[in-house]
Amino acid sequence: MQFYSAALMKMLVPLTLIGAALLGRLYIDQLGSDARVILDNLAYLFCLVALFMAYQFNRSRLMLASFGVVIFYWVVQNYLQASLSDPIVWGRFLAISLALPILILYLLLLPERGIWNLYGFVFSLAFIMLALICVQLGPWLPQVSEAAQSYYAPRPVDGYVLSFGATLLAGLVVVVGIALLTTRNEEVDAALIGTFCSLYLVLALLHLEHISVAMCTAAALCLLWGSLRSSHAMAYLDDLTGLPGRRALNERLKILGGDYAIAMLDVDHFKRFNDTYGHDVGDEVLKLVASRIRKVGGGGTAYRYGGEEFCVVFPRRTVEESVEPLEHVREEIAGYIMSIRDQKFRPTGLKEGTRKRGATRLRSDQVSVTISGGIAERGIECAEADDVIAVADKNLYKAKKAGRNRLAH
Ligand code: GH3
Ligand code: MG
Ligand code: MG
Repeated sequence: MQFYSAALMKMLVPLTLIGAALLGRLYIDQLGSDARVILDNLAYLFCLVALFMAYQFNRSRLMLASFGVVIFYWVVQNYLQASLSDPIVWGRFLAISLALPILILYLLLLPERGIWNLYGFVFSLAFIMLALICVQLGPWLPQVSEAAQSYYAPRPVDGYVLSFGATLLAGLVVVVGIALLTTRNEEVDAALIGTFCSLYLVLALLHLEHISVAMCTAAALCLLWGSLRSSHAMAYLDDLTGLPGRRALNERLKILGGDYAIAMLDVDHFKRFNDTYGHDVGDEVLKLVASRIRKVGGGGTAYRYGGEEFCVVFPRRTVEESVEPLEHVREEIAGYIMSIRDQKFRPTGLKEGTRKRGATRLRSDQVSVTISGGIAERGIECAEADDVIAVADKNLYKAKKAGRNRLAH
């Protein structure tokens, strides 16, 4: 499992939206009546757009979240605008304050498998069932015991409405959400955390004027942002490695001006590796190789060119300047020994294991790969990016012929 600390940066947009909504709430009174009507319905409108986009991109988690925000906003606007000292209103408030963290946890923890299949259907049905269970649970819980009554009582302290029990659940959502975001590095997780925080603030600060309008709009915007980012990632990022893919590279090459160097990198004997250990282990190794290439220094940006080939673009660099960071990556990959935990992927018998493997002889439960690379730079003879890539490719072929696990230029 990898840890992406940079994934925390994905929270920047949701947190900015939340901050802006908290600030904007203070000025809502100054709006005219027409503007108020629009503002009051903005959350519905944004949710509808997010829902439509999620449907288009076959994203069940975002779709259910958008649907959930619409229901949340509608319930808060129509059923929670009364005193919480009324046991019926308290029961409703408790129901929604349990449903919110439980449903977001559900969306965070269950994997995305699309909408229009059996899994998607069961996933959506279970989401609705969970919501209905929470609706029943809300009014019932305080009656269980006196301890439960005080545990779930609203306004545990001055200026804070959410019960102690629901607050603990909210904390759990944030911890789990951040853990998943930093291991999966997906925008949808950041959008779900942002949505949760926005709606949490509605419940925690329910006594404040216009809080539901402001924060539900922020929640809907978080989902809209999540849908946009997720569609962008689908188009531009490679699914397996998370690196920008061929489309992103083509766009980059179009706007690349001045001097630059390009390296084509290719995993050595990868077909043989797959034949020995299977495609699944091959995929894991590609991910590791990609994660090392991603961190290449010298201002280089790595792309997955296709298959087991990667491309690194070094703007404003010559071949000479890009050799050192690339050599560093090549050595790191060659020196990295990966353990295979699953017995079924190990080659049978030591003889076969050492014969079929690439460059290095290892124990039968350990594997290692090497990469070769060709580098080229923009010059008089290759003025276009395509020409530079063609020369880098030729140099890659030279490196392979010269024995692999090396760079050529
Ligand atoms: P060379 O050292 O000359 O590059 O040999 P090679 O075997 O790496 O080269 P070749 O182009 O013949 O084979 C590339 C192999 O990479 C074929 C395919 O099995 C494997 N491969 C390509 N994409 C993927 C992928 O996404 N996952 C896995 N597991 N394997 C892949
Ligand atoms: Mg290849
Ligand atoms: Mg290869």
